[in-house]
Amino acid sequence: MRSASGVLASGFPFHAGRPFDTAGLRAFLRAAKHKFESDTILTNFTQLGLAEPILKALAAKGYDKPTPIQVQGIPALLEGRDLCGIAQTGTGKTAAFALPALQRLTENAKHRVPGSCRMLVLAPTRELASQIAQSFEDYGKFLKLTVAVVFGGVPINRQIRQMGQGVDILVATPGRLLDLIDQRALSLRNVEIFVLDEADQMLDLGFIHALKRVDQLLPKKRQSLFFSATMPKTIAELGDRFLTDPVKVSVAPAATTAERVDQYATFVNQGEKQALLTILLKSEPIERALVFTRTKHGADRVVKNLAAAGIRAAAIHGNKSQPQREAALAAFRSGDIRILVATDIAARGIDVGGISHVFNFELPNVAEQYVHRIGRTARAGATGIAMAFVADDERPFLRQIEKLTRVKPTVMPLPENFLEEAAKLPKPAPSKPGDGGRRFEGNRGHGAPARDAEAPKRRFPPKRARGVGSHAGAVRKTGGR
Ligand code: AMP
Repeated sequence: MRSASGVLASGFPFHAGRPFDTAGLRAFLRAAKHKFESDTILTNFTQLGLAEPILKALAAKGYDKPTPIQVQGIPALLEGRDLCGIAQTGTGKTAAFALPALQRLTENAKHRVPGSCRMLVLAPTRELASQIAQSFEDYGKFLKLTVAVVFGGVPINRQIRQMGQGVDILVATPGRLLDLIDQRALSLRNVEIFVLDEADQMLDLGFIHALKRVDQLLPKKRQSLFFSATMPKTIAELGDRFLTDPVKVSVAPAATTAERVDQYATFVNQGEKQALLTILLKSEPIERALVFTRTKHGADRVVKNLAAAGIRAAAIHGNKSQPQREAALAAFRSGDIRILVATDIAARGIDVGGISHVFNFELPNVAEQYVHRIGRTARAGATGIAMAFVADDERPFLRQIEKLTRVKPTVMPLPENFLEEAAKLPKPAPSKPGDGGRRFEGNRGHGAPARDAEAPKRRFPPKRARGVGSHAGAVRKTGGR
């Protein structure tokens, strides 16, 4: 097994009484040098050592300064080092791995070999894979490298033909990648650079066996990059498998991103959430809103209920076909629809600017997921608003979230005249029988309990439950505790 024994810049590797560790000292000095450079000197892309065609493409994208992960990662990657990054979407990590890779592949130009690729990027979802491939196209538009993206949910034949010619950079989801390998359309034997993106999400989606297989198919001599938003033990162990003496980079830990978002929580019965959402969407000045539900059926139901109330929205989740997912995302991007209702898996990696509000129609049972959700707003330094609808049985999840983010959302009471306003709305569609026990999308592999997240099986408007609407007035976010 390859070892991930790098030393963090902050961890001096010597302790009284232990033998002198020369390798440790070298790793420590290297990490300290990178940290020094990133903190002090390197503030533009030219200083990072990137070549002219890439700088031109970055200028065309309007990037004038590298983000912290780019400053920390690019010089090491240009040297050919492995990298282990704790970073989530929104930090600029795609450019951090794409730019040096484009440069190295160009400097070491080779003919394309049929049925193979020189760089492999694995991403957990189709949307993220498409976005990454698009980034390679954009950053490499003045270079001669070819980029292909493959994922499931679309016919495989075209992808088989595409692989036939060979490709420089291949972005793939694990399942379809292995299908292509099994059909002998693709071999990984010529991979020079390998990137595993969103490793924590990969494990959540149950891709562990696929990843182990990919590891065995990759050549031993290669550069490897491994990214995850969180790095618990299971994920660090997966990283060990792929990495050799990696540079370790950690940016904006999940908890700090949350601080840029104004967070609110409203305590409300599950059965009243639809009315609350409809009323807020009608009354708040909302540019673009993402609404998170826990289940696919829940997402569809919210869309249907919004439509009945005259609000156009689209849903994006794992039961939608690829064209449907793409159409929903395109409509949301273009501003044709302002409201996108999503489950966690489908929304992961969605990079749409100008999302002013994130509504947590149901709270996730994994606190990190909440941070990912609200990170969809407050992109690129903007601030955003996140609203959580918390039913009684979701309070423990809220406490876990508060512990992780060290932010206590401002309690927002139900709107004035909530019941009267709600009574005027069309009756929401009831839950389908058997819907309630459905496992929710994702969280496989982490052992998280799959809670029944669906609305209680009663029609609106319900009898007012004890405590609902009796909260004190709103106060601003209280910040760290
Ligand atoms: P990522 O974390 O790779 O999903 O990137 C998040 C967003 O930041 C994307 O929309 C990128 O186009 C954008 N981005 C990446 N690097 C920079 C940069 N240096 N300056 C401005 N925007 C950037």
